[in-house]
Amino acid sequence: MMEAYKSMNVYKLHINSALCVGCNDCVVACPHNASLPPEMRGDIKNYTIIVRNGKAIVSNQSFCDGCGICIEACGPKAISLKVAK
Ligand code: SF4
Ligand code: SF4
Repeated sequence: MMEAYKSMNVYKLHINSALCVGCNDCVVACPHNASLPPEMRGDIKNYTIIVRNGKAIVSNQSFCDGCGICIEACGPKAISLKVAK
């Protein structure tokens, strides 16, 4: 099931670290991150986006379904999303 999900992924997240202020809003706004069960929360590879050293990074692109909610949540407009063809 997970492999099928990955094969459907055509989105590529990009975070402009020069604009990111590390507020964590994107991390908590992402529905995938929010739905992680407690036993998966200890591993950053289970998250789409996570903040490390004061900046958001793309941790696991394969879980992103391109919903765009993180883009809306980011005040400084540091996140962009492209369709990878
Ligand atoms: S586009 Fe949606 S699924 Fe992807 S990281 Fe942003 S909020 Fe999460
Ligand atoms: S919401 Fe924007 S500014 Fe805040 S951590 Fe995420 S990318 Fe950085």
